[in-house]
Amino acid sequence: MDFAYAPAVEELRKRLTAFMEARVLPADAAFLKEAHAGRFPLEILEPLKARAKAEGLWNLFIPGLKPDEPGTRLTNLEYAPLAEIMGRVFWSSEVFNCSAPDTGNMEILHLFATPPQRGQWLNPLMRGEIRSCIGITEPDAASSDPTTLQTTITRDGDRCVINGRKWFTSGALHPNAKFCIVMGLSDQRPEADPHARHSMVIVPLDTPGVRIIRNLPIMQHYSPEGHCEVVYDNVSVPAANILGEEGNGFALAQARLGPGRIHHCMRSIGQCEAALELMCARASDRKAFGRNLAEYSNVQDWIAESRMEIDQARLYVLRAAWMMDLHGNKSARTEVSAIKVTVSRMQTRILDRAIQVFGAKGLTNDTPLAFLWTWGRALRFIDGPDEVHNRVVARAELRKHRRPA
Ligand SMILES: Cc1cc2nc3c(=O)[nH]c(=O)nc-3n(C[C@H](O)[C@H](O)[C@H](O)COP(=O)(O)OP(=O)(O)OC[C@H]3O[C@@H](n4cnc5c(N)ncnc54)[C@H](O)[C@@H]3O)c2cc1C
Repeated sequence: MDFAYAPAVEELRKRLTAFMEARVLPADAAFLKEAHAGRFPLEILEPLKARAKAEGLWNLFIPGLKPDEPGTRLTNLEYAPLAEIMGRVFWSSEVFNCSAPDTGNMEILHLFATPPQRGQWLNPLMRGEIRSCIGITEPDAASSDPTTLQTTITRDGDRCVINGRKWFTSGALHPNAKFCIVMGLSDQRPEADPHARHSMVIVPLDTPGVRIIRNLPIMQHYSPEGHCEVVYDNVSVPAANILGEEGNGFALAQARLGPGRIHHCMRSIGQCEAALELMCARASDRKAFGRNLAEYSNVQDWIAESRMEIDQARLYVLRAAWMMDLHGNKSARTEVSAIKVTVSRMQTRILDRAIQVFGAKGLTNDTPLAFLWTWGRALRFIDGPDEVHNRVVARAELRKHRRPA
């Protein structure tokens, strides 16, 4: 077993780190100032994107690209340490065209889009010209169980009519957002197979009847690109916008969520590393009762536990990525569920310790810690709550120990 990254990945890590230090970090304060004022600073982002693309730091996340598709063609295992570096600055993934929810959408469009869908939606996404969102979660349905989704997709000749209400549609207010992949009930017969009743359809956001009602703040943070409540009121799109086969929404959701979940975990490890660095720096500088905080054994315990937890989680994530590369996304389903729970819980624990070391300052926006804590907390819901993932892990474990009757 070799724990070293491949030489080509080391080379990319160096280039990406240099790019982050030379170009992204110097733009961070200006980006945050605009974001806190509720504006999305395209004027900061677009030149950085052009530069990253020119340097080949582009679409790093997507394995199996076709020859005419722009990107770096890395495996999940190779991508993991790069996503970790991007994760350190929460907005930076977009600079490299590696941000959610586009990455997941590109994955499923890449797998299932028809040639016209590729031309209209996938290709501009891969070039970074537009952005996209995914609308699964609904206020009136327990969306961790998508069989309960109520939004309807009704065929009307060669059109589909969508009616319903979604929320937490991330990115719907991004100035470049052009479409949402909406999941809804396309077979409204109650007796139909509950896992074959839903479809996904591409809905351009400027279609009449699509209304963004509000941008939901996540605890205290408010993102200018939005986690939005969106109403679909008799929204009519061509039936050719259905993604994959009608009725296969569940299969598409699974194909989409595997890679999306592991990417969140990779970025989260980078955020925990950044928090640990800040915690150590503060503990080494700050004096209370005549000693540096770093000299108190409880602070040393927090630092040691954080180091050990990050290293364990990173290995766990790398193993899941390796399994996806080796045997396909489906085969790593249990591991992906396990790392999703492990990493999101770790993030709030480590951020909580770092905040404690900083004193009250840790709760303000003078450090990224409070924001990163809320992000860790949100990750316990994003792409499925902990309990649903625990259930996947427990069922796999129980299957191993099932005895013949
Ligand atoms: C910041 C953020 C961004 C998001 N972005 C998007 C997005 O872009 N698009 C999108 O569609 N959604 C998005 N979501 C929504 C997210 O995917 C859902 O919140 C999640 O799937 C859970 O659905 P729910 O909120 O309806 O919770 P519910 O399904 O109502 O579940 C509530 C609670 O019930 C419990 N529970 C559920 N099932 C079980 C079980 N089997 N066993 C035990 N307990 C259980 C859990 O404790 C769970 O937390 C986002 C969420 C956040 C916070």
